[in-house]
Amino acid sequence: MVGGTREIGYDRLIVATGATPRRPRNLPDINGVVVLRALGDALALRAAATAGARVLVVGGGLIGSELASSLSTLGATATIVEAAPVPLVRAFGTTVATRLSQLHERHGTELLRGVEVVEVEVVVDPDGAARVSAARLSNGRRLDVDLVVAGIGATPATRWLAGSGLALNPRDGAVVCDGYLRSSDPAVYAAGDVAEWPGGPAGTRTRLENWSNAGEQGVVAGRNAVTGHAPTAYETVPYFWSDWYGHRIQFVGSPLGDDVRFYRTAGPRYGFVALYREGGRLAGAAAVNGQKMMMKYRRLIRDGASYEEGVALFAGELAEDPGGSGDLALARPGGATAPAALNEQPGLLRGEDGT
Ligand SMILES: Cc1cc2nc3c(=O)[nH]c(=O)nc-3n(C[C@H](O)[C@H](O)[C@H](O)COP(=O)(O)OP(=O)(O)OC[C@H]3O[C@@H](n4cnc5c(N)ncnc54)[C@H](O)[C@@H]3O)c2cc1C
Repeated sequence: MVGGTREIGYDRLIVATGATPRRPRNLPDINGVVVLRALGDALALRAAATAGARVLVVGGGLIGSELASSLSTLGATATIVEAAPVPLVRAFGTTVATRLSQLHERHGTELLRGVEVVEVEVVVDPDGAARVSAARLSNGRRLDVDLVVAGIGATPATRWLAGSGLALNPRDGAVVCDGYLRSSDPAVYAAGDVAEWPGGPAGTRTRLENWSNAGEQGVVAGRNAVTGHAPTAYETVPYFWSDWYGHRIQFVGSPLGDDVRFYRTAGPRYGFVALYREGGRLAGAAAVNGQKMMMKYRRLIRDGASYEEGVALFAGELAEDPGGSGDLALARPGGATAPAALNEQPGLLRGEDGT
């Protein structure tokens, strides 16, 4: 059914309706409390985030981090509140996530870890519209804010499938697929943020929210839907990227390795590659400003390469940075150099109260 009125028949259907951003349950739906998903959200946010605006970013994940970075480019002041002690552990593992989170502080964005928003204060304008004016945090702080933007995750956009008979994961509503991206109805396939399939480690069920997965699943679901016979199983080495403060952050593979080593990239621009070992295998690779390397690591991981093969791949261009405690310097925007930027140990990070 399209638009609630028009029926279109199908032989095969592909569900690719993406995800809907979560809103913090304790925050009111008023002016100045927003989420980001569609172009319209981004345009409204850009209009509101004028130079000097004080913005509270709820969630220090990939979207919250990109938000804080873009807001600082616009001249707004972003403060991130992150409920976990270290953000992005699920995506990068603790060691690399700790280093990455230091990028915020190095670029003037306050990151409050282990802190949540308890409530927001609201003022009513003369025209009767309510808008946010301040936020109270779980560490007792009160922040004057003009805008609150939440980046706390998304859930599969499948409410329209309720009652369809299609098997949905009761936890998040994802379309439950087999290894060929076929749903519980053999005529219906799914791809992208909406789909879960047995593609995690050792065949565990998983769902990925990134661009490359959506594109690659679209190809496989489309092919399987039209060819029907001899379907292709969807197998991938996960890959995503994110841009913060002019740095390209990338990840391939799995962050579950039991050992992570850092390597400095050559050249004047700040950068590192972190290689994850699981047993003897290369399990994953993370990089800051290591663009030309990541697709090669992705191929190695896909081929089941050993950790040593991963280390050898760019042996001439990478220098080991033992324990991440060397004296790397991080180029600040404008060319000046900050000392020991990403090599500070977690214990040297600023406290939760920003001291
Ligand atoms: C702010 C932001 C930044 C991101 N940055 C990155 C990044 O740097 N790198 C990266 O790899 N990934 C990034 N992602 C994630 C990436 O955008 C998604 O994983 C990808 O877009 C998923 O593709 P999709 O086709 O599954 O869903 P979508 O791109 O969301 O497309 C789904 C479409 O379906 C439409 N739709 C929904 N319901 C219905 C319905 N009932 N009927 C008809 N149409 C419907 C939606 O309006 C939407 O247009 C980002 C996401 C966000 C929100």
